[in-house]
Amino acid sequence: MRQPAFALATLATVLSAAAAHAQPAADPVTGFAPSDTAFVAYAQPRIAFTHVEVVDGTGAPARRDMTVVVDHGRIAAIGPSARLKPPQGVAVIEGTGKTLLPGFVMVHEHMFYPSPKGGEYGEFPYSFSRLYLAGGTTTLRTGGTLATYGDINTAHAIAAGRQPGPDMDVTGPYLEGQHLLTSKMVALKDPADATRTVNFWADEGATSFKAYNYLSRAELKAAIDAAHARGLKLTGHLCSITYGEAIDLGIDNLEHSFAVATDFVKDKTPDACPSPTATLASLNALDPDGPEVGALIHRLIDHHVALTSTLTVFETFSAGRPEAPAAARDLLAPQWLSSYETRWTQTQTSDRGRQYAAFFPKLMRMEKRFVDMGGVMLAGTDPTGYGGVVPGYSGRREVELLVEEGLSFPQALKISTLNGARYLGREQAVGSIEAGKQADLILVDGDPTANVSALDHMPLVFKSGVGYRTSAIFEAMKSAIGVY
Ligand SMILES: [Zn+2]
Repeated sequence: MRQPAFALATLATVLSAAAAHAQPAADPVTGFAPSDTAFVAYAQPRIAFTHVEVVDGTGAPARRDMTVVVDHGRIAAIGPSARLKPPQGVAVIEGTGKTLLPGFVMVHEHMFYPSPKGGEYGEFPYSFSRLYLAGGTTTLRTGGTLATYGDINTAHAIAAGRQPGPDMDVTGPYLEGQHLLTSKMVALKDPADATRTVNFWADEGATSFKAYNYLSRAELKAAIDAAHARGLKLTGHLCSITYGEAIDLGIDNLEHSFAVATDFVKDKTPDACPSPTATLASLNALDPDGPEVGALIHRLIDHHVALTSTLTVFETFSAGRPEAPAAARDLLAPQWLSSYETRWTQTQTSDRGRQYAAFFPKLMRMEKRFVDMGGVMLAGTDPTGYGGVVPGYSGRREVELLVEEGLSFPQALKISTLNGARYLGREQAVGSIEAGKQADLILVDGDPTANVSALDHMPLVFKSGVGYRTSAIFEAMKSAIGVY
């Protein structure tokens, strides 16, 4: 009889040791585990940035030599350093030569990444939530998920202050039809199934929805109506349904801006997804400044449909574009890194790589035209494709590409901050540097209004007034993507 009791005691010891390993005591100041507390550079309740350049996220031009005071997680005051002196006893961050931006609000993020085995995706909410933050993203919407509970629980842990990371709006599982990109998706059976699925996941904590390639119009309509009935929004990466049809059905947002529109495929069959080659050829044949694109832009604007720019993922498809930076590649586990590098090399000479190289500048031109005509553009990064869109580095790259397409830095920043906050209904709390808002801030070394690549130097990111040393997060996440 002693033997089982001993075995049981040993097992209990092992289990409690494992539990202690999984959940070490939270730090009394940060509320985080020690491994996360190690990332925190500033946890003082009151902090002042002095003599800093501010680009506030509203689209307004940069203001120089400013002071920004943070008090208990909120922006308490902002004014010229000549007039606004930091209050006694605050931690002062000297900002000469530095620029303060609102944290990014990115709306097409994922907690998964494409595996070296095609058609498979690994879920990495642990590293991705921390890496997005290290890259300046302090609010995000997922643009579809393959592990909804993983995303919902991560969002809850961040909201409860148990771990660092961006505030998250979690989409439910992809709303998809009868053709599945991966075995982790599910096919809706009919419109009633779309309604049931939206209601189930809204009850479970999803706060938005994403429709995917092979839905029928009737299923999309049912999903939109179910989401709207609960005050939630629905976006789509569509193929079987044209943008024009989705606008008429009441969709709120379309992903990948113009890059997946099937409106221009000749003789398209209703409710059927044309081949990717046919869709890309139809888009490549368009004049970005021509009347067809103009008419679609007018319809989008008239119906208040937002577009999400995800230039980062289309850059990876296009020959002649740079590889992900070395520091981003350092985050990939070895097999994931070699897969990315092989595929990137193939892209430089493949037909598809050349077709996207021709399309990429046209896509930029269409996006710029949409913004110039008054359309609501949002930004996201979409870490899919064959890899290379790396959380932590993808957000800044998206802003750089928006500037490359011809937008001013304040415009590109507004798309990547306040526009997203407004779309998500969070603009009272986040999205710009204004007194009363959450102190979600990026400190950049240099002046991104003079040269947007200054965004590559982002030593500190603040979320709710807590300052994170970004280099510490990146160092801790080396080779993590593919592992956890
Ligand atoms: Zn995506």
